[in-house]
Amino acid sequence: MQYFLRLSVLVCIATSGFCTAEEPADKTNARFQQAADRTFKAFDREEEQTWQRPFFFMQMADTQYGFFSGNKGFDQEVDLVRRAVEHINRLRPRFVIVCGDLTNATPEHPRYREQVAQYHRDFSEVDAEIPLVCVCGNHDVGNRPTAQSIAHYKENFGDDYFSFWVGGVCNIVLNSSVLKDPKDAPEVLAAQQTWLQQQLQEANAAKAKHILMFQHHPLFLAEEDEPDQYFNIPLQRRTPLLAQLKQADVRAVFAGHYHRNAYGTAGSMEMITTGPVGRPLGKDLSGFRIVTVHETGIEHRYWGMDDVPEKIEIETTSDAR
Ligand SMILES: [Zn+2]
Repeated sequence: MQYFLRLSVLVCIATSGFCTAEEPADKTNARFQQAADRTFKAFDREEEQTWQRPFFFMQMADTQYGFFSGNKGFDQEVDLVRRAVEHINRLRPRFVIVCGDLTNATPEHPRYREQVAQYHRDFSEVDAEIPLVCVCGNHDVGNRPTAQSIAHYKENFGDDYFSFWVGGVCNIVLNSSVLKDPKDAPEVLAAQQTWLQQQLQEANAAKAKHILMFQHHPLFLAEEDEPDQYFNIPLQRRTPLLAQLKQADVRAVFAGHYHRNAYGTAGSMEMITTGPVGRPLGKDLSGFRIVTVHETGIEHRYWGMDDVPEKIEIETTSDAR
């Protein structure tokens, strides 16, 4: 193993950065370290605060390498992700966001590293001009995250919560696992909460056309006051958060975790839960969502992997909602 690693490093140096060996590639791949300093480096904050024109992005969730086979392998996930990447490179969205459970194994699991390496390999095939935003899920930081599990995630995928502007729209990514269960990382939840309030205020002050949020766990599946269950955020933290998001006029929250689609509203805010790229747990097939952002609203639709259109045409003269 030692020999293999040393050899890998040599191969990396010899090929000046074009590296296929698992471990060094994971550490050096800049594509997966774009979420840093609580922002996403591919997008210039100043420039992107101005509305330009309608655009679309692709929202995915639960690639969850290893889920089909109980961590024995990940052939089916590889196949699905490669098909998703083909769609990404053909459709050319403004960005792609993967809303958590990137792998099935959690950081302390023996299969974690190889699943992460495969995720990196497959998503490295996304055209370099299309930013790929990764969001942490409960499998990525654990059902009860700790400072250590979050640090582990950051090494592989960058910040666990951050915000970025795209063409006049403020996008806020949260670590929803600490909202689900903050017991072992209360300081992370508190820091995220303070930071979120600042982000919402800044977005309102900068007159964002829309504020969109992204996280792994749905705040709720269908009704904003539905009882607590595995797939939603407990009411104790959900209710005050929803009040805060409504107050800031957040347009929509996008999530995954449910492995099927679900939709609800809280006031005028949409709660959109998107099915999996990986293994489905309901009738919705593996796929992803395409979201078109107009000046006055958004439109979105989930597509099964076999049904994705060849091309996305955006009507620039008429506006949604
Ligand atoms: Zn999950």
